[in-house]
Amino acid sequence: MIGMDNLITGDKKNIEHLFHLEQFEYYHHDVSKHVHVPGELDYILHFASPASPIDYLKIPIQTLKVSSLGTHNLLGLAKAKKARILVASTSEVYGDPLVHPQNENYWGNVNPVGPRGVYDEAKRFQEAITMAYHTYHQLETRIARIFNTYGPRMRLNDGRVLPAFIGQALRGEDLTVFGDGTQTRSFCFVDDLIEGIYRLLLSDYAGPVNLGNPDEITINEFAEEIIKLTGTNQKIIHKTLPVDDPQQRQPDIALAKKLLGWEPKINRAEGLKITYGYFSALPKEELYKSNEPRQFTQ
Ligand code: UDP
Repeated sequence: MIGMDNLITGDKKNIEHLFHLEQFEYYHHDVSKHVHVPGELDYILHFASPASPIDYLKIPIQTLKVSSLGTHNLLGLAKAKKARILVASTSEVYGDPLVHPQNENYWGNVNPVGPRGVYDEAKRFQEAITMAYHTYHQLETRIARIFNTYGPRMRLNDGRVLPAFIGQALRGEDLTVFGDGTQTRSFCFVDDLIEGIYRLLLSDYAGPVNLGNPDEITINEFAEEIIKLTGTNQKIIHKTLPVDDPQQRQPDIALAKKLLGWEPKINRAEGLKITYGYFSALPKEELYKSNEPRQFTQ
């Protein structure tokens, strides 16, 4: 078992508990550069990419490279090793969707040259090249379209809404809702997602499959939930809505239910409690740490 990361947005601490395992190896490597792994491989899971809009605005070229060049490298590796590969795609392939909820047959509404285009278009290219390796090289490929996911070990200051709100509550700051807060998201607890990923990996279906929790909520309601959960006395303040921020997002998971017998089991109240437990136990200095993505040459 190999974990490979250049830690541009990740943290070694998140996998330290695996280091004592004899069968686990860690490679510090950027998959956008040629990937060499000796010996046999059965499965490759490609999850490398910044995933927070604030991160991918700061490192746009690397975001584009990891899902294009990085995916190409890993598909080549899978082909050489005769391994099955699962790639992490995203609900962002649907852009600011005109169909609601989003099912896998919807082609999306993406602005290629907007600030989010660096992520959305790279992931769309990733799906295209993965499918091409499947049809042309008969490679065993799987594509997970992952919707908003949360849980312990997120980076507190990665800019995504859940760590942003919890960090603000823990520091005694007001909660920053972008825009009027009527935009919606549907949040899936990480353990549920992992179960879905695992089942998809072991399935025999090569088309894209939505994985997420269909329980949809506005960002205003979400902020209220975080205020209640954390017991903070702070209030909600509004900031400018980021360009091309999707107005609504909810996965249609009928396909995953049928194919994988999968649906999320952990509701938001339960998942948020576990996640808040993790964040509130972090050492105080973590709350104030500048947690920028590490700058490398793009
Ligand atoms: N958001 C917000 N306040 C924040 C961070 C995010 O209101 O401090 C909003 C953001 O504009 C979006 C939603 O929360 O509508 C989810 O944002 P996130 O960055 O978590 O991911 P996205 O789903 O947009 O990829």
